[in-house]
Amino acid sequence: MKLLHKKNEVRQKVLEWRRKDQRVALVPTMGALHDGHLSLVNQAKQHADHVVVSIFVNPTQFGPGEDFEQYPRSLGSDVEMCRQEMVSLVFAPDYSEMYGTDEQARHPYLSFRITKMTDHLCGPFRPGHFEGVLQVVNKLFNIVQPDVAVFGQKDIQQWYLIRQLAVEQDHPVEILMGPTRREPDGLARSSRNVYLSGHERKVAPMLFQTLQRVRTGLEKNGKLEAVPVDETIISQEVKRLRENGFNVEYFSVVSTPDLQPADAIEHGQTYIIAAAARLGKTRLIDNLLLSHKDFLNHDA
Ligand code: AMP
Repeated sequence: MKLLHKKNEVRQKVLEWRRKDQRVALVPTMGALHDGHLSLVNQAKQHADHVVVSIFVNPTQFGPGEDFEQYPRSLGSDVEMCRQEMVSLVFAPDYSEMYGTDEQARHPYLSFRITKMTDHLCGPFRPGHFEGVLQVVNKLFNIVQPDVAVFGQKDIQQWYLIRQLAVEQDHPVEILMGPTRREPDGLARSSRNVYLSGHERKVAPMLFQTLQRVRTGLEKNGKLEAVPVDETIISQEVKRLRENGFNVEYFSVVSTPDLQPADAIEHGQTYIIAAAARLGKTRLIDNLLLSHKDFLNHDA
């Protein structure tokens, strides 16, 4: 496995593979790797001869007052995990390699057509975040030019935006979604879970349990007719979360791929039930998909 820090070295390596007609998959990460990241690597392996993992804590996607400085960094053990997973190349650039020495470049300069897709869910709570994500992912797509790229369902709004980016910027890359990997008690794995105190860690799985309860409620009636999204039930669930110390930012049902609030679940469409809440200083996000397929599974 190669550990490279320079874009040009990565380009050369990828070119070597391309000359042999080999396929390349990219898994972008910010490091502090866990089982969730590794599941994306394994999915990527099914679709390519070589998997490239990028490790870069991208400053442009952190807002003022967010956790850029504290974000966990563990390059040594990350690289070892990648080696064990038979990753071909880890790309770990530093800040100036990605953005040069011009301070201006710190700010997302490419004006991606950020559509209504950022009007809800995390968009309003993290102004500038998705611009930063799209800026760095666009660069990574240009550097690696992968055939496929795998992103997690855990960050589902990001996933839909990146798929849109690939279309709009004509990146010939297939965007795959990896399912959310969870701790045994249901908490979505996240590099940020290390911030949780002992007590917070104990209550944290409530977020997933609440999403599950709301999904079951919507599915129960989901036969052939549209089911209204009952805001009263959602408010009751949010109240319970607040009583248990969660500072809930949003708890929403949205349609796909436009990510607009849904007031009814129509048979045959895919929806997302998504939530974000702060527990102490840790921001947790999670979501569940609600789709035609789920209805069929439920009926089965
Ligand atoms: P991050 O390092 O947090 O930027 O995440 C890198 C990639 O891993 C993104 O595509 C995330 O959606 C994905 N990811 C993060 N947590 C999980 C998880 N628990 N299960 C699956 N994928 C995840």
